[in-house]
Amino acid sequence: MARLGSWIEPFPEGIYVKPADAWVDPSRPKVQALVTHGHADHARGGHGAVWATPETLAIMETRYGEQAGRPISYGDSVRIGEVDVSFVPAGHVLGSAQIVLEYRGERVVVSGDYKRRPDPTCAPFVVVPCDIFITEATFGLPVFRHPDAGSEIDRLLHRLHAEPERCVLVGAYALGKAQRVIMELRGRGHDEPIYYHGAMERLCALYEELGVPLGDLRAATGASKQELAGKIVICPPGALNDRWSRRLPDPITAMASGWMRIRQRARQRNVELPLVISDHADWDELTQTIHEVAPKQVWITHGREDALMHWCMTHQIKARELNLVGYEDEDD
Ligand SMILES: [Zn+2]
Ligand SMILES: [Zn+2]
Repeated sequence: MARLGSWIEPFPEGIYVKPADAWVDPSRPKVQALVTHGHADHARGGHGAVWATPETLAIMETRYGEQAGRPISYGDSVRIGEVDVSFVPAGHVLGSAQIVLEYRGERVVVSGDYKRRPDPTCAPFVVVPCDIFITEATFGLPVFRHPDAGSEIDRLLHRLHAEPERCVLVGAYALGKAQRVIMELRGRGHDEPIYYHGAMERLCALYEELGVPLGDLRAATGASKQELAGKIVICPPGALNDRWSRRLPDPITAMASGWMRIRQRARQRNVELPLVISDHADWDELTQTIHEVAPKQVWITHGREDALMHWCMTHQIKARELNLVGYEDEDD
């Protein structure tokens, strides 16, 4: 009998599914690609056929132009070569999916990036029992335990209201994090206009088109200092310290990221108000998920593989590191 998962081959540039002749999240252009979600390190341009959820394809088209897209909605199944392929929610960003691959009685789930916390902008993670679970490990160290997003948003609002002559400038990745922060604010009753950097415009418009209502959003460019006082402004992390922010009224610099747990990272970016809001599973979510999925083997991709490898060993779960390259996860 063939070794479990012998039909799945990890290469530095992605995971190759032999009997489908297709790659999962390849970092180089391929003839056939299966894409878990729209973040640039997973969804590259230039592939031949791309299988992804309709939302992920829409995101890719916004970024790269027209795709030879084959949309697969959550719960639908398609046969590619000799492999049955379906997409189930991963809870990471809008349209994000785990890819379920079935071949000759074996089931492999490629998680992509995922989290278990509630997120008002996307469908929650679905547990799919399988033989091999290929998991990310971005925050795969026991020190990473994300607080509740609601309490981080409360800290943001508290600070905003305490200094109404200033504004709070929040650095947030343009796909997913920005829209989640906006929705979390709306969920806390913050109905004021929220201002955004020009780089956010297209993706926010796309989220709205795809059914995520973000409320009163306005362009920060062109707004007066007076208008922006006491308001929240969202920008990509890269714009936090650049010339662009000088037009704002004495901004309180915040950033929403799982990495804000590390003080050093907050200091590097001159972040005064670090908000630990992550779109990746923390340590407890990773280990809880492996328990629930109950795979025969765990294959670990980008992030801190060692600690999760060790945890699997001590729990009698066979584990293996895949040395994929090109996943940055600054997206968090
Ligand atoms: Zn991602
Ligand atoms: Zn990733």
